[in-house]
Amino acid sequence: MCNTNTWASQTNWKNIHNSILSNHLKTFNYRCVWDNLPVLKKFCLNPLDSQAACTFCHACPETLIHLLIECDFSQRIWQYTAQVIQRISNTKPLLTQPLIISMDVPKQEKPYTQHTVLLITIGKHTLWKIRNQVRYEGKQITHRKAIARIKQSVKYRLTLESKRVIPFNEGILQQITDAL
Ligand SMILES: [Zn+2]
Repeated sequence: MCNTNTWASQTNWKNIHNSILSNHLKTFNYRCVWDNLPVLKKFCLNPLDSQAACTFCHACPETLIHLLIECDFSQRIWQYTAQVIQRISNTKPLLTQPLIISMDVPKQEKPYTQHTVLLITIGKHTLWKIRNQVRYEGKQITHRKAIARIKQSVKYRLTLESKRVIPFNEGILQQITDAL
């Protein structure tokens, strides 16, 4: 079982605050590395407490790793994300903790680091936002809707970037958008 110190030590900090990300997404990456999101397991000491069950599947304790990686709902999102990355790089990345939380981009994906970092960060940020809507607003959100939101978020990043006086990452964002 990983602990937070382990994550921090294997973390690629340059990728956590990569220039392809908005400040908001950079902050979100830091919160994930330091296990700083208020997942339910943090508030329940008893592991069998049903109040601590995952918002998506209700079957496992809601830890950061379960919610953002292991849960069946999240796995559907990562399957989609892996397909998009594969369309860009021609290799299928293994979407596990070192990549999703620590942003440790595998060797074969290195030439596509920014593409990978953006897609992974938007994927987990979307999962977290959806989790909050399901839990606190009682919304029902399918994985198809979640994927549609990921597409929207990438396109929104592209729109913002292209409005800048000197567009910085526009080319990369366009490539990602084309692969969605
Ligand atoms: Zn779950």
